[in-house]
Amino acid sequence: MERTLNSELTDKIGEPVRTAGWVSIRRDHGKLIFLDVRDRSGEVQCVVTPKAEDALAVAKTLRPQWVVEIEGEVKERPENMKGAGVCGGVELVARRIAVLSQAEELPFDMAAELNLDTHLDYLPLTLRTKRSRDIFTMQAAILDAYRRSLIAQGFTEFAAPALVGGDAEGGAAAFKVEYFNDAVAFLATSPQLYKQIMVGPFERAFTVAKIFRAEKSATTRHLSEATCIDFEMGFVENEHAVMRALERSIRDVVEEVSRTHADMFERFGTTPPLTPEHFPVLTLQEALKALGKKEAPDMEPEDERGICEWAKKERGSDFIFITRFPTKKRAFYTYEDPAEAPYSRGFDLLFRGLEINSGAQRIHDQAMLVERMRDRGLDPQKFRYYLQAFKYGMPPHGGCSTGLERFTARMLEIPNVKEATAFPRDMNRIDVRLSD
Ligand code: ATP
Ligand code: MG
Repeated sequence: MERTLNSELTDKIGEPVRTAGWVSIRRDHGKLIFLDVRDRSGEVQCVVTPKAEDALAVAKTLRPQWVVEIEGEVKERPENMKGAGVCGGVELVARRIAVLSQAEELPFDMAAELNLDTHLDYLPLTLRTKRSRDIFTMQAAILDAYRRSLIAQGFTEFAAPALVGGDAEGGAAAFKVEYFNDAVAFLATSPQLYKQIMVGPFERAFTVAKIFRAEKSATTRHLSEATCIDFEMGFVENEHAVMRALERSIRDVVEEVSRTHADMFERFGTTPPLTPEHFPVLTLQEALKALGKKEAPDMEPEDERGICEWAKKERGSDFIFITRFPTKKRAFYTYEDPAEAPYSRGFDLLFRGLEINSGAQRIHDQAMLVERMRDRGLDPQKFRYYLQAFKYGMPPHGGCSTGLERFTARMLEIPNVKEATAFPRDMNRIDVRLSD
């Protein structure tokens, strides 16, 4: 008999089936045993009665996370017992149960709320909880919708390298890799230079890349290894063209996940984000003014939270763009129009209190780029490979980068980005706690 998924059982009432999955809970009720069994499609209740003597004997030994195969018959549950969820309307009456794999006694109750460190220490187990499965189902849906939106907007995906010969930003702390003869390599802090190069062949290019940042602090928003969705597009007039493409991607993602995962927002005690027809746009100085603050070259985390509250209240938006940061605060390749100096054409997108994206129009003129490098104390000779893209014809262009973990965390209002990362790395942890 072929395997039937739990979600397909509703179509097979009265029929014999074979299912397989993990036992979540066993409940003993007098002579009956009830099992909740999870597979990739959802959870279903299974009843074992004394009529199925062998199955009952096996059921008595089962504990959480044992992997089983069950043969039985699908029954409709009484109307008042039909719970929520895909498989709520039916139950499986077991005829035969086979154990495919046993599990040791669990170190804690899977339904209990765990502190973050315990959750992370036991990820191979805790990733199986409903909460974790929700988070990473959401993340996969975000990534898929984002990808489809960019492809629909004419972008071509490429795979960016993670090993690089120099630090792309010249600033962000990079991890050194010692292996290559006579040369120091680094783990990429961003796919920036490569996606700009890809404007040459494709005009519009994007990549889902791993970035590595040797962050020397442990915060709720920083990882040592993060995933970003980076795109770059040619023939832009200014940074607003990039912001429009980004806004469309974000809107497409929000529409898709609101439609397909409405129940998830409810379980996390939140709602789908508000995306008005135009996301609000404030310059940095306008934003600080709205917060009653003095002029400053950048925003503090509390300002990011404050201005997001303002955007929600005043503009009905969970997203807000901040533009016109001082050029000296942005990466070397950020474009500055002489008439707009000392402000750059860079922007940040904030979502529910946190920066999730940074972008800009970039410098496309080779001489200007070389001059900017010199101003920043960078050696243009070290960038000669990248500079070929500009030497051989580069249109005005711009792009941006969204942190997937931060986007996911804010989508479900999860306070720590580490919980929105399947296998988070930070100063203190690569799977296990490094101090142990
Ligand atoms: P922040 O100022 O908040 O530390 P950043 O400005 O250094 O971030 P960018 O270089 O602009 O980050 O990277 C683009 C996006 O990638 C960020 O908006 C964020 O969503 C994500 N990102 C960057 N660094 C990290 C990190 N260490 N951990 C998690 N996400 C990150
Ligand atoms: Mg940034």
